Amino acid sequence: MSKMQEYMERGEQYLLKTYNRFPVVFEKGDGVYLQDMDGKRYLDFAAGIAVFALGYNHREYNEALKEQVDLILHTSNLYYNKPAVDAAEKIVKTSGMSKVFFTNSGTEAIEGALKVARKYAWLKDPGKDYEFIAMNHSFHGRSQGALSVTGNAHYQEGFVPVEMRAVFADFNNLEDVKSKITDRTCGIICEVVQGEGGIYPADPDFLKGLREICDEKDILLIFDEVQCGMGRCGSLYAHDLYGVKPDVMALAKALGCGVPVGAFVTNEKASHALVPGDHGTTYGGNPFATAAVSRVFDIYEANDIVSHVNQVGQYLYQKLEELKEKYSQITDHRGLGLMQGVQFDGPVSKIIAKALENGLVIISAGSDIIRFVPPLVITEKDVDEMIRILDQTLTECGFH
Ligand SMILES: *Cc1c(COP(=O)(O)O)cnc(C)c1O
Repeated sequence: MSKMQEYMERGEQYLLKTYNRFPVVFEKGDGVYLQDMDGKRYLDFAAGIAVFALGYNHREYNEALKEQVDLILHTSNLYYNKPAVDAAEKIVKTSGMSKVFFTNSGTEAIEGALKVARKYAWLKDPGKDYEFIAMNHSFHGRSQGALSVTGNAHYQEGFVPVEMRAVFADFNNLEDVKSKITDRTCGIICEVVQGEGGIYPADPDFLKGLREICDEKDILLIFDEVQCGMGRCGSLYAHDLYGVKPDVMALAKALGCGVPVGAFVTNEKASHALVPGDHGTTYGGNPFATAAVSRVFDIYEANDIVSHVNQVGQYLYQKLEELKEKYSQITDHRGLGLMQGVQFDGPVSKIIAKALENGLVIISAGSDIIRFVPPLVITEKDVDEMIRILDQTLTECGFH
């Protein structure tokens, strides 16, 4: 039995089985390549689920973390810390929003955003039982509050009634949203590009319409940019592409490029809803996590990552279109920047498993969509190699 095999067996023995894991233990990474314990190399087009935007073993990023380890890892939020202040300033200045609360994950960023909207409404009228409008096929995380606005029975099953009241409307259907508005609605939450739900970008008119509804009712618009934010779609924040501003934005995934960190970001109006005592976290925004965030912003700026995403994203789009022309089983292809999805006429699990064997890491979004969320530093050459392996894999799987 190989050392890798042994770890997989011990993993099954000791880790709670909430995932059916692929049979691999990744041990290290370099650039856009991963290496498993047996020394096999893989081209990575998943980035640890849209997280590792800078690629692995990025020298400057690693140095920032090592420096911070030697200074201090944690202080709690009872005190100020330097990296958190620097990181928050960078988020505020790049987003044009007002205040930042750091969390440890995406789901916690959503929890905070929801609390902001509830409190904002409660301050105007404490007498109501408030609810959210969320979207069908959305994904916002696994904690009870985030789960309550996740419009997918698959994730909610076994945990209903969920904590918070939410009604669901069809994404990109403004009339449906309008029909669900009541005097109990305290906020509308949606992803700018639905990720887990299958890579569906919002229509510009839809986001504009949501903004108008929220302004008219004086309720908060929450954009979940946990997956589509941080440059992935070809602008630093996906909503910038639409010219529509949220009242609260949730970030995570690529925000720390591997260090567990998220944030919810409020505009001026929403900044006053939560006051001391309303919300907190022991770890959130600790110096280690925010040193990562701060350096990520510096590296993005120095390397103009966003322009790069636009260029290579277009190239990926073109190559995937060619693949779509070639295979009759591919029914659709959509996405923005380096967040793209290719839809098949059936399950893609076999393709993904076979691609892994062939040295390519890709993931699904839903059962019939392959999702491409590579490190943002990939080159056209990497795209060519990915297409070559995927093309070969599809042929091996019997597609034509
Ligand atoms: C991943 C994701 C989350 C949840 O983030 P976690 O860090 O897994 O808690 C929330 N919203 C969206 C859009 C996501 O893609």
